[in-house]
Amino acid sequence: TPTLTAAAQARSKSRNRSKSQNRSANSRLSAADFAFGETLGEGSYSTVMRATYLRTGQEYAIKILDKNHLMRKEKMHVALAEKNALVKLGAGHPGIVHLHWTFQDDWSLFFVLDLATNGEMQTRISRLGSLSLTCSRYYAAQIVDAVDYIHTKDVIHRDLKPENLLLDNAYRIKITDFGTAKIIEPSERANTFVGTAQYVSPELLEKNETSKSSDLWAIGCIIYQMIAGRFAFQGLSEYLTWQKIKSLDYSFPDGFDPDAKDLVERLFARDPLQRLGAGLPGGPNGPEALRSHPFFASISWSTLWTDPVPPLE
Ligand code: ATP
Repeated sequence: TPTLTAAAQARSKSRNRSKSQNRSANSRLSAADFAFGETLGEGSYSTVMRATYLRTGQEYAIKILDKNHLMRKEKMHVALAEKNALVKLGAGHPGIVHLHWTFQDDWSLFFVLDLATNGEMQTRISRLGSLSLTCSRYYAAQIVDAVDYIHTKDVIHRDLKPENLLLDNAYRIKITDFGTAKIIEPSERANTFVGTAQYVSPELLEKNETSKSSDLWAIGCIIYQMIAGRFAFQGLSEYLTWQKIKSLDYSFPDGFDPDAKDLVERLFARDPLQRLGAGLPGGPNGPEALRSHPFFASISWSTLWTDPVPPLE
């Protein structure tokens, strides 16, 4: 593919030819600083490769985006959106793929990311059929915790699904794919939270909340899928699937855990503002309300990322 060709070319170039974008680290990295290993996966505009940073021996996943291809397909803004969201999220949460550095050369953009060695959650669900209740609860909690962090940084993921939940070497979640993420601008926030309450339109309120809240809807879909082993909403075509979503046409298989059922029902509230966790932090329906749901009663939130991981089954 053009991307691989570019990657191969890049590897043979001297470090002087690349332009580092990472001014803050005061380093001028290039592909020559890494030993590239196998291809971990391919996206529509990118190839992700395992790579070792020669200076430290640390392994990373490097996402290589072909500049010409991005330009031809008018997708440069997607790559930049992903970079901007990842930079905004920083290294502050273990459940999100961290962007360590970016650099570029004449052909490619390089994103140096946390390596998630155990692939996508989707592959695991497909392989296992469904996940045990213990596993589903554990991963649901990690997703809730990571998405809460994302939202506190004023980023909305907008494409949460098991394909975008990677598993690291300890089988903990790392959320990835911020190409469709949206950063809520301060002005938007001002409109919503600082404006004169009596005059703010429901649409304006809803637009902001719906966006964050749509991530909560997606979490409901993921929890349903992990436990049931099938989609909550699935029609014979995309159109029919959308019809089902719009009419909240879903049902639970026999034996679906009652607490999980209650949680999913609350995440599938049609009104985005009523969705569990959609309210302001500290408020009656804020993120704390979601964490306090009985389904999560056995979860220790403060040790969620250091506790032993339940076997993936
Ligand atoms: P598309 O661009 O079509 O939406 P995508 O978002 O999956 O696809 P990439 O982000 O380039 O595209 O990822 C391609 C594949 O590489 C992914 O499916 C994933 O399996 C793998 N991958 C991505 N990031 C990492 C990572 N940090 N660690 C390990 N594997 C990764």
